[in-house]
Amino acid sequence: PRRTQSSVAGGAERTLIAVKPDGVQRRHVGQIIQRFEQRGFKLVGLKMLQASDGLLSQHYCQLVQKPFYPNLLHYMTSGPVVAMVWEGQNVVQSSRRMVGPTNPVEAQPGTVRGDFSLHTSRNVVHASDSVEGAQREIQLWFEGKELLNWDCFDHSLTYKED
Ligand code: GDP
Ligand code: MG
Repeated sequence: PRRTQSSVAGGAERTLIAVKPDGVQRRHVGQIIQRFEQRGFKLVGLKMLQASDGLLSQHYCQLVQKPFYPNLLHYMTSGPVVAMVWEGQNVVQSSRRMVGPTNPVEAQPGTVRGDFSLHTSRNVVHASDSVEGAQREIQLWFEGKELLNWDCFDHSLTYKED
C-alpha cells in the first residue's frame, strides 16, 4: 500500500474524526469516543475547539460553492467541536463504516449517524473519506506536536502479524 504522512509504522493509518456541534451539545462525545476505543483504534490526538470560518472553508474546500455551504458553515460554527485523530490498520475505511452515510436516513442502526441523528445537516460527526483526505484534514486541524506516537500495550492482542 502507498505510504503517506498519515500512515505510520506497521502499516497503520490515521483519520480525522470530529464530533460536530450538535454531537457536543447533545452530550454524545463520550459514546462516540467509546466506539473507536472498543473497536481497537488508538487515540493519538484530541482537542475541543471553536472552528473558524477559515478552517472550515479549507476543510470543506470541495463544498464551498454548494448552495448549502452557508448553512453548513453556520452549523459547524454554532458551538464547540471535538476533533480527534485515531490510528490503526484501515482506520479510514473502518471509521467511515462505523459513522455511516452522510444522510442519516440511509444509515444503519449501529452506526453513529444511524443511532444518533436524523438529518444530513445535523449528522453529529465527521470522518475523513480517504487516506489522502485524512492526511490533508489532520494537517489542517492539528499541529504536529499535538499528535502523540505512543505504544498501546494491547497491540499484540488487537493485531496478528501473518
Ligand atoms: P460526509 O463526508 O459524509 O460528512 O459528507 P460530505 O463530505 O459530502 O459533506 C460534508 C457535510 O456537509 C455533511 O456531513 C453534511 O453535514 C453536509 N452536507 C453534505 N451534503 C449536504 C446537502 O445536500 N445538504 C445539506 N444541508 N448539508 C449537506
Ligand atoms: Mg466528507
